[in-house]
Amino acid sequence: MEFNSIKYGNSSIDFQLVYKERKTLSIKVFPDTTVVVSAPCKTPMEKIVEKVKSKAEWILKQKSFFLSYEPRTLDKTYQSGEGHLYLGKTYRLKITESKNKSTKLKGGYIWIETKDKSQTQKIKEQLNEWYKSKAIIHFNTLYENRLGLAKELSEKQTSLKYKWLNNRWGSCFINGTIYLNLELIKAPKECIDYVLVHEICHLEHHNHSSSFYQLLSKKLPNWKASKEKLEKLLS
Ligand SMILES: [Zn+2]
Repeated sequence: MEFNSIKYGNSSIDFQLVYKERKTLSIKVFPDTTVVVSAPCKTPMEKIVEKVKSKAEWILKQKSFFLSYEPRTLDKTYQSGEGHLYLGKTYRLKITESKNKSTKLKGGYIWIETKDKSQTQKIKEQLNEWYKSKAIIHFNTLYENRLGLAKELSEKQTSLKYKWLNNRWGSCFINGTIYLNLELIKAPKECIDYVLVHEICHLEHHNHSSSFYQLLSKKLPNWKASKEKLEKLLS
């Protein structure tokens, strides 16, 4: 594999070049915004550059689509009374000092018991641990509900993983591993399910082609509304 780059207007497009036994050249943009060009063996470099340039507009559009899918984080102060989202609803923090740490939902509050109320970084970590514990439960339930779809679209053994991601809601790897951003636990279940189905559809189409969207619309007719809801809530 070779790494290359072309200039296009004010942008530069980096791409990986793979030579293959094939007749035509193809360009793919993956959800992590990497661009892969597969070219027939012995295609001259000028030809490849020319082709990438002719497709530059489309490549940049694909990349910006993936980037628009990225979550943004807001600055929080982690003090009592501040609103924090959980499954699409806002709960106020109630922070009290105690020898034992605990975090729970109680009476419309996210109640955090901590040793020192002034340690906001510690409170943030404690809250994120709680979010993660809830995410593991809800993500797995939603994933189990969609296992049938995953099996229908791919013979590969799929698996679900989760972590805090800065720049995307989820991703789907060619080996069948699906990642969900833990941040999604702040969104309604319908939005988490939308990201999950989106990633599962990538098992069949590892791109955002029209076939991909046809499949997504067939499997989740209301996906656009869920996508808008998610972007409104968490961006
Ligand atoms: Zn995608």
